[in-house]
Amino acid sequence: MKRILITGAAGFLGSHLCDRYIKEGFRVVGMDNLITGDLKNIEHLMKLENFEFYHHDVSKYVHVPGELNYILHFASPASPIDYLKIPIQTLKVSSLGTHNLLGLALAKKARILVASTSEVYGDPLVHPQTEDYWGNVNPVGPRGVYDEAKRFQEAITMAYHTYHGLETRIVRIFNTYGPRMRLNDGRVLPAFIGQALRGEDLTIFGNGSQTRSFCYVDDLVEGIHRLLMSNESQPVNVGNPSEITIADFAEEIIKLTGTKQKVIYKDLPVDDPKQRQPDITRARSILGWEPKVNRQEGLKITYDYFRNLPKEELFKDHKEFKK
Ligand code: UDP
Repeated sequence: MKRILITGAAGFLGSHLCDRYIKEGFRVVGMDNLITGDLKNIEHLMKLENFEFYHHDVSKYVHVPGELNYILHFASPASPIDYLKIPIQTLKVSSLGTHNLLGLALAKKARILVASTSEVYGDPLVHPQTEDYWGNVNPVGPRGVYDEAKRFQEAITMAYHTYHGLETRIVRIFNTYGPRMRLNDGRVLPAFIGQALRGEDLTIFGNGSQTRSFCYVDDLVEGIHRLLMSNESQPVNVGNPSEITIADFAEEIIKLTGTKQKVIYKDLPVDDPKQRQPDITRARSILGWEPKVNRQEGLKITYDYFRNLPKEELFKDHKEFKK
């Protein structure tokens, strides 16, 4: 039986990965410091014999007794609001944390996959983004703490691969959505759906002409699994190339939720990328992967998740977000 360590296990992506590897018949070790993660996301796994959980910050030395075959490093804040609130932890988890996990992988002779991001491309000047594009990143802007930590993460992961011969995988994740996203994390999808459910206007930042390409979480998890099991040590984009402006996305959410509210416009955050779309040629050819769930289907599932949350959560989270 294979044993896998998943960091960020109580987060949005981490918890879906825990589910997937439990289904695959692995023994899953979850780890999370619970700063942005929530134990509710993995509550259903806690009683399983094949699941164990460590409440630990991977920026500090990581000790896991016993054998490990795989490590997935998914611990990190992942929204611009979080980077502003916890910039130092954001830097540390993808630098010091990645270093600790690479050391652990070496000691255990485990294969490690690290979660990188489309943010390594910054505000991209190449469109759609291919893996050989080096990016346009402002190191000292508000997103720099995330973008540069993730770029360092890729560099140190590659160095462990070339210098130590460690089996490493790097996935560059584009905007992903689905159940268990945090309602108050500031990301556009929970923001719009939360606003619709509370009967508030939808806040578009800037004029809404900026684009994103949204991938449903199950598609992403499948892409990650295929990459983990492949021989590819170069970075691979995983995301859905279906691109949409934020203004059109707001219209889709208004239709989906039936809200009578309107859109209002707020300032565009500093360094907000103008366009983003993954070129997934590499994932298609190496992994035989492409997304299967279209936005209409994915949004419906995600909306059902949010509207079935206890009502007080809608408002509790909202207050915290407003602080
Ligand atoms: N955005 C928006 N209204 C919101 C939250 C976000 O218009 O209430 C915009 C944001 O400025 C960005 C896009 O939606 O252009 C996606 O933002 P998100 O934080 O989800 O992800 P990222 O910018 O990291 O792709």
